[in-house]
Amino acid sequence: MQKIRIGIVGYGNLGKGAELAVKHNPDMELVAVFSRRHLTETNSGVPAVFLADVANYREKVDVMLLCGGSATDLVEQGPQLAALFNTVDSFDTHAKIPGYFATMDQVAKEAGTVATISVGWDPGLFSLNRLLAGAVLPQGTDYTFWGKGVSQGHSDALRHVPGVKEAKQYTIPREAIVSAVRSGQNPASSSAESHIRDCYVVAQPGADLAAIETKIKTMPHYFAGYETHVTFLSEEEFQANHTGIPHGGVVLRSGKTSPAVGHVIEFGLKLDSNPEFTSSVLVAYARATYRLAQHKFTGACTVFDIPFAWLSPKSGEELRRELL
Ligand code: NDP
Repeated sequence: MQKIRIGIVGYGNLGKGAELAVKHNPDMELVAVFSRRHLTETNSGVPAVFLADVANYREKVDVMLLCGGSATDLVEQGPQLAALFNTVDSFDTHAKIPGYFATMDQVAKEAGTVATISVGWDPGLFSLNRLLAGAVLPQGTDYTFWGKGVSQGHSDALRHVPGVKEAKQYTIPREAIVSAVRSGQNPASSSAESHIRDCYVVAQPGADLAAIETKIKTMPHYFAGYETHVTFLSEEEFQANHTGIPHGGVVLRSGKTSPAVGHVIEFGLKLDSNPEFTSSVLVAYARATYRLAQHKFTGACTVFDIPFAWLSPKSGEELRRELL
């Protein structure tokens, strides 16, 4: 059987995770890693190629995994690469997904490619579970709790505070609210009320710690309105205890089918490494994207549009026998 030929664009956390994930899928092979930097080598030994030369690989790559950042990379690279390849990306700026979909759809339709966007866990697997639970229990309420885990965006925001040398922010859901939902209650609580923000900060020598703490706790959009804890620690303690990128969370829907009959649907993830897990989802969707292309589909799609069976390397017959 001919293997699905995969390329990776962007060699950060997600790109390195994708490199590992492809190895666990015998029906795929990694062709090359493409980067805007002149990399001399990759962890797996596959060629590192300068991104400007990517068009030379049009006939050599079946699906390109776009592993750039959502804030600035994907909005630029997504349309450029969808014009040349079938793509899968993890665009996660929720408010901008409709606009990004429209752009990718137009480019991919014109090019005759498939662009699978916003794949990962949120958006991604969590989105699928919200859809499923809402369809099954139309009378109900959705809840999403994130953590305990590292928020990269909030950690970045901490690092931009004057006097901060290094920092990490953990998002922690309030157990009392999660338990209330699990027990069938419908508490009305905002994201700010449902989560605690726990910050670990290495300050620059001589920095005013009280001023840093005030700046963090009053930062609009990130920490203001949240219960926020700030712990200062040495660089050694930080390196020893806070270099991992764990994450996870739960999606719940609590609903009723008659006045005294309630149900709770729950889907949860506990991830040692956010990028290694997210890229594993990307790789499964690369298989489905390849199949969509073989069925002559063109344009953009999301996790909502892809048949579940197409994620699996198993045949329909095997799936019906083993998993139904
Ligand atoms: P990184 O910051 O590690 O990498 C982003 C890009 O930055 C890379 O593609 C790489 O591009 C460049 N880069 C990486 N390291 C360096 C370096 N040392 N020096 C210069 N440039 C570098 O981001 P992540 O891989 O952690 O995350 C990528 C995106 O994944 C996030 O922005 C987020 O949107 C998304 N994501 C989505 C999730 C979901 O559930 N949907 C979950 C988790 C993440 P190049 O090689 O071309 O230089």
